[in-house]
Amino acid sequence: MKDRREFIKIGALGTVGLLTNTACAQNDSEDNTTGVLEDKGTTKPIVVSTWNHGEAANKAAWEILEKNGTALDAVEAGVRVTESDPENMTVGLGGLPDRDGNVTLDACIMDHQSRCGSVAFLQHIENPISVARKVMEDTPHVMLAGQGALEFALQSGFKKTDLLTEKAKDAWQKWLKKADYKPVINRENHDTIGMLALDAEGNLSGACTTSGLAYKMHGRVGDSPIIGAGLFVDNEVGAACATGVGEAVIRVAGSAMIVELMRQGKSPEEACKEMVKRILAKHPSEKDMQVGFIALNKNGEFGCYSIYEGFNIALNDNKRNKMIDASYEKKWDRN
Ligand code: ASP
Repeated sequence: MKDRREFIKIGALGTVGLLTNTACAQNDSEDNTTGVLEDKGTTKPIVVSTWNHGEAANKAAWEILEKNGTALDAVEAGVRVTESDPENMTVGLGGLPDRDGNVTLDACIMDHQSRCGSVAFLQHIENPISVARKVMEDTPHVMLAGQGALEFALQSGFKKTDLLTEKAKDAWQKWLKKADYKPVINRENHDTIGMLALDAEGNLSGACTTSGLAYKMHGRVGDSPIIGAGLFVDNEVGAACATGVGEAVIRVAGSAMIVELMRQGKSPEEACKEMVKRILAKHPSEKDMQVGFIALNKNGEFGCYSIYEGFNIALNDNKRNKMIDASYEKKWDRN
């Protein structure tokens, strides 16, 4: 897993091509669960999150959950770790910029009361998830974007920060030399972080945060800050979040649909799989598009599924602290 390099290229009109080199087992978890619990009873607290960076993020979330803290506090604290990591080039500080050199961030958060907050196209703020939470708690709105979101953040006491690290700037300047417009997601196991938690009280919350597609058009917003697409929580049923090509996730309202499929009786993994299949059916000409979903239901059962191999999730509960490779539809065509 550590050496995986994956790149998704998205053309100006949304066509997707892929150069990739990955080699990982479909499921290397020792209990072979791929997200399906053997014990069907309620497992709480529990937290799951996307990709390898989920490991460090879950640690922060778990510190809150194990002390009977709320799922809302846990998911915020968890994804803040990833946002503040300058080495991570796909979330928060150190994220790869758009094609004009601006780091622009998208994030959203949702709790067990269906309260939600979101920021899109936000610049200069290291922890957009906390601004999203402020939008949820301190305004009558769900979503703030761009300059208005920045002004709100500054008024709320957030510090203006230069998010473009030297490493990200170098990568962007290298990309500029070719000067053709092909925004790239660099997926070296660092991507959007989506996190779902069920706390000791049995309440669910979720958070999702990203710097989006690298070298995207200025102003492009993906699925990650869109409630129902990048993230959805319904405390009666479960929660879901997404990673991968945001445009495809938005088109099918991915996370909201997964929650509805769980309401109709599907397991978390079955629900994720059905949405992956729906995305594939609606994008017949998109050969190399990656999307991954994770879902967690009210009983603490979780599942994950992706279009292509290589997606993984981090899990923490009272018994386990591990990475799990998701089941998938397709192997990468490396030719
Ligand atoms: N979903 C994110 C977006 O489209 C990117 C990602 O997950 O890699 O902005």
